[in-house]
Amino acid sequence: MAASADAGECHSEAGGRVLKATVALVLAVMAVAFAHAAPASLRVVSDDNYPPYLFIGPDHQPRGYLVDEWKLWEKKTGVHVELVPTDWANAQSMLLDGQADVIEMLFQTPERAPLYDFSAPYAKVSVGIYVDTTISGIDDVDALRGFEVGVERGDACVEHLKEHGISAIKLYRGYNEMIEAVHKRDVRILCMDDYPANYYLYKNGADTEFKRVFEFYSGQFHRGVRKGDAATLALVDNGMRLITREERDELRRKWMGHPVNFTPYTQLFAYALAVAGAAGIALAIWVFTLRRAVERRTRDLGFLVYHDPLTRLPNRALLIDRIDQAIRHKEGARLALFLIGLDHFKRVNESVGHEVGDQLIKDMAERLLGIEQAHTVARLGGDTLAVALVGTLETATITAAAERMLRLVGKGFAWQGRTIFVSASIGISTWPADGDDGATLLKHADAALGLAKREGRARFRFYNTSLTSEAQGLLDLGEGLRRALQRDQFLLLYQPQVDLRTGRVVGVEALLRWRSDAYGLVSPDRFIPYAEEAGLIGAIGDWVLQEACHRGAQWVRRGWSGLHMAVNLSPRQFGSFNLFEQVSDALGSSGLPPHLLELEITEGSLLQHGPAVSSVLSRLRALGLSFAIDDFGTGYSSLAYLNRFPIQVLKIDRSFLIGLPDDARAVTLTSTIIAMARNMNMRVLAEGVETEAQWNFLRDAGCDCAQGWYIGPPMSATQFEDWISRGAPFPYSDGLYSQTSENGIR
Ligand code: C2E
Ligand code: MG
Ligand code: MG
Repeated sequence: MAASADAGECHSEAGGRVLKATVALVLAVMAVAFAHAAPASLRVVSDDNYPPYLFIGPDHQPRGYLVDEWKLWEKKTGVHVELVPTDWANAQSMLLDGQADVIEMLFQTPERAPLYDFSAPYAKVSVGIYVDTTISGIDDVDALRGFEVGVERGDACVEHLKEHGISAIKLYRGYNEMIEAVHKRDVRILCMDDYPANYYLYKNGADTEFKRVFEFYSGQFHRGVRKGDAATLALVDNGMRLITREERDELRRKWMGHPVNFTPYTQLFAYALAVAGAAGIALAIWVFTLRRAVERRTRDLGFLVYHDPLTRLPNRALLIDRIDQAIRHKEGARLALFLIGLDHFKRVNESVGHEVGDQLIKDMAERLLGIEQAHTVARLGGDTLAVALVGTLETATITAAAERMLRLVGKGFAWQGRTIFVSASIGISTWPADGDDGATLLKHADAALGLAKREGRARFRFYNTSLTSEAQGLLDLGEGLRRALQRDQFLLLYQPQVDLRTGRVVGVEALLRWRSDAYGLVSPDRFIPYAEEAGLIGAIGDWVLQEACHRGAQWVRRGWSGLHMAVNLSPRQFGSFNLFEQVSDALGSSGLPPHLLELEITEGSLLQHGPAVSSVLSRLRALGLSFAIDDFGTGYSSLAYLNRFPIQVLKIDRSFLIGLPDDARAVTLTSTIIAMARNMNMRVLAEGVETEAQWNFLRDAGCDCAQGWYIGPPMSATQFEDWISRGAPFPYSDGLYSQTSENGIR
């Protein structure tokens, strides 16, 4: 076994020696052959600024891998090499003109194929697109269209760019010139081979100004000779083959990086590696988490462009887009857009806070999402939601849907063991009748919503063409409103309030109107919010008090001694310190007996200003006037809370009367409010009585007074006087004269 093993070893050693001797002999023969056939010298040209392959060093001498490689080649072949680094375009001309024998670092391209013969490839290089960091959005070659790209003259980049249809190419004499151009802001996008790009951008301090956005292409370096010069190509190739692997490795280590010798430090290195590994994993997790967070945030931001952050429903823009799409694709024979505004929503916010208000909006949105055939449910901000229905919609179906929406919203919202009631007004527009696109339909639904609100809220209205001009006009309301006082454009209408048992007119509510040049008679729901925002409400409120008190006093002088004058106060008026002075001044100057003045306030006013209001109310109360809570039921709705204030009258909001007397829920609610208020010695007045049935129900339920169209609409002073003189006939609508009252008021 041992002998055969020895023999085996001996045999292989002998074989190795034979092989080495043969190779040496062949090389010697080749060297001799070269010495005879080869020219005495070879001129090699190439790009003078292509580190690490070939570039000019600080000593102005050529340096790089190729310099050393060709020195080796020279040594091996005995043929003298003159290496000529020059600019790239020149290098190519030199070769083609016969001034050089070999060109180095040449990519093989179809355009070059008829001009050169190429050696086998010896290195792979990639070419990148480098972009000024201030430019974003370039991620592929197509995105380069419309930009100017800087390229080194003669570079294969030019051919590649042209292939992609990019012709705005700026040529430079070399990479150095390109970098200079970068500094002068002459060019902001470069096509460069990665190796020299790294070197030059870094060397010239431009590496932070530029980023490599993508790899444009990669290619292989070849040596090239003039087409047909097979002898030179063979000479070059054979000489290159004489350079050993070790020699090449050494060259590569010198110019492309040094592998570190770890042997003495293996253990230390292992520890370091473990630590670095752990840190790396932690870093990777952190980066991953961070990236996820960024992605989420980016997604969120993207989401918010088309969605409402509170309800996460589509916003106005997306709603319009979806309607447009439905129309374009004719998804149904008809489309109905419902714009749903929550009535008195501001009061809900004022009394229970914005958070509860937000919750309520979410809840309402949730309910609307349950509507069958709902193509899109959106929130347009504030208190406005929208529903689009698509299908074969009969008008009756649309009406039924609107009624359903009113009921869904009116169901009330549970909060802290009690129910907050809100009503809604709805404006409806339909396609194809009212517009051909989402934006128009929305505008028209908005006009119809305005109409529904003006006509007393808690109802729906369809769009009709006459609404357009009005809606447009109201946009620049603010300007006119500022001048309305000086121009004497305000007036008060008076709506009768009647005792339900005796049928006597016991008072009137003064309701403000603005007679605007541009828009005609404008209702307070439209302009009071503007007046409040613009700080005009103090002056307007003062005018209302003066006017109402003077009118009331005039009627007293006429002999109508039992007629209360109810005046609405905005919550903002409580913010002004001179409310007490304004009221006492109006009473004093008009001579209206204080007990005939009734101030209507909202629950929100009480909650907003708390103790401050309490003291004003007490001082005013001491003058002898009374207070009514307006729109009871639409806000905080706590009778126990009201008990703390000197309140004499409770006005039930008209949204509660809508289902009376058939709707069981409406019956329970109104009956309960009436019973509780009476328990607390408050008079109860029902607002918005429109039918005889409502009247009868309220009277039987023990409600004291009523106000509404059934009795009489808001009238001008003269109309009211005329109405009274005729014996206050109601039901108003059919103009029937009923009984004549004993005192002449009814
Ligand atoms: P409000 O105080 O609740 O006034 C009652 C509103 O209901 C009036 O609307 C009246 O025209 C309407 N109305 C009366 N009867 C019926 C009915 O049977 N059915 C229906 N659907 N509606 C009826 P108007 O005059 O448009 O006033 C709206 C609101 O504007 C008032 O609601 C009040 O909050 C405010 N307002 C009116 N005048 C003034 C004022 O001088 N100062 C302040 N700060 N606010 C005012
Ligand atoms: Mg009122
Ligand atoms: Mg009211």
